[in-house]
Amino acid sequence: MTTTASVDLTINLISQGKVAGEICATDLVEAPWKFDLEMPSYGPGASMADPIPADSPRQGERPEEYRTASKNELAERIRRAKATLGDRAVVLGHFYQRDEVVQFADFVGDSFQLANEARAKPDAEAIIFCGVHFMAETADLLSRPEQAVILPNLAAGCSMADMADIDSVSAAWEQLEDLYGTEPDANGRVPVIPVTYMNSSAALKGFCGDHGGIVCTSSNAATVLEWAFKRGQRVLFFPDQHLGRNTAKAMGIPVELMPLWRGNKALGGNTEQTILDARVILWNGFCSVHKRFSVAQIDKARAEYPGVRVIVHPESPMETVDAADEAGSTDYIQKAIAAAEPGSTFAIGTEINMVQRLAAQYPEHTIFCLDPVVCPCSTMYRIHPGYLAWVLEALVRGEVLNRITVPESVAAPARVALERMLIARPGTTMAA
Ligand code: SF4
Repeated sequence: MTTTASVDLTINLISQGKVAGEICATDLVEAPWKFDLEMPSYGPGASMADPIPADSPRQGERPEEYRTASKNELAERIRRAKATLGDRAVVLGHFYQRDEVVQFADFVGDSFQLANEARAKPDAEAIIFCGVHFMAETADLLSRPEQAVILPNLAAGCSMADMADIDSVSAAWEQLEDLYGTEPDANGRVPVIPVTYMNSSAALKGFCGDHGGIVCTSSNAATVLEWAFKRGQRVLFFPDQHLGRNTAKAMGIPVELMPLWRGNKALGGNTEQTILDARVILWNGFCSVHKRFSVAQIDKARAEYPGVRVIVHPESPMETVDAADEAGSTDYIQKAIAAAEPGSTFAIGTEINMVQRLAAQYPEHTIFCLDPVVCPCSTMYRIHPGYLAWVLEALVRGEVLNRITVPESVAAPARVALERMLIARPGTTMAA
């Protein structure tokens, strides 16, 4: 699919038979409020098979007017509310967000860039985060206490982030401490350092802050692992096994020394010796969007487009990353495309909203998504213009809806882990 229409429009055209293509769920044409209350999983899209944890927030009923308003009416109401609020409110849109929402964003970026944008707007009373729950939490950690961070649809979680919860990680940690003890080795390195991907709950960031650990993004994961290996003999990496494995492998750590930890089993389902020998213990989490990218898709792209440059996100499986020309974060992908010679061809392994937006932004290149099936991130898909209009118009009336607040007992150690990440610099030598 090389069309540059918005993903929502593409899905509608495919479902009506007006353009050729395949979508991963016919339910994608429905509005998210159809699923907010009743679905046991995240709804139509790439993460539709991932269950929503019982304690995740659920979005209640929306007033009828926002569910029935036309696309044009919603757009007009959002524009009017934004104009009335002016600098009092800032709207942030993630790269994977649908165009129908992103068009109203004051900033578009990845989760950490957006959290920093929130910090750069200390005068805004409200930060409307059109992303998912952990991103809104991070914005709350980094913004001023008086600023309200708002998630337009509370059911917009992240299935990967939800694969590691504080209770399971704490239980795993206890087992590791029982096995390793807590004493540092002769080089002063503790037995294990916890590293959490930005795509995790604030509680897990706080856990890392409390246990000598650190946060990483997909842009700085190697730098963060270097930081961790200077201080620890091993790393417990959560929630994304693929980012952990791909990063550590690129640093020269053998895959055999990276056992997978399955949260519901003793020692994560491993032998004692495997865990003693481990360099990186990988939590059994993954992104349902990025796990779709495969070697077969890369082979097909190369056959159809000789000379194609294949770039995949490091949340993709190891075999896919190995078969690609490059792997990098959303920021890396964007910069690579911006710097390419006109007439280049790219097959990109990341979320389709971002890929189609890049294709529209750079018509001098041929850019397409590696996955031929149109299958957006279903959790991001839960933010719809109807929700954006609802929270903005409430703000105009002086009402703050869907505020995301991280309690200070969690926020303080979470900030410690984030600060360690900000201070970590590339170029330090990795401990053997
Ligand atoms: S793309 Fe994957 S990691 Fe990102 S929000 Fe969606 S499910 Fe989570």
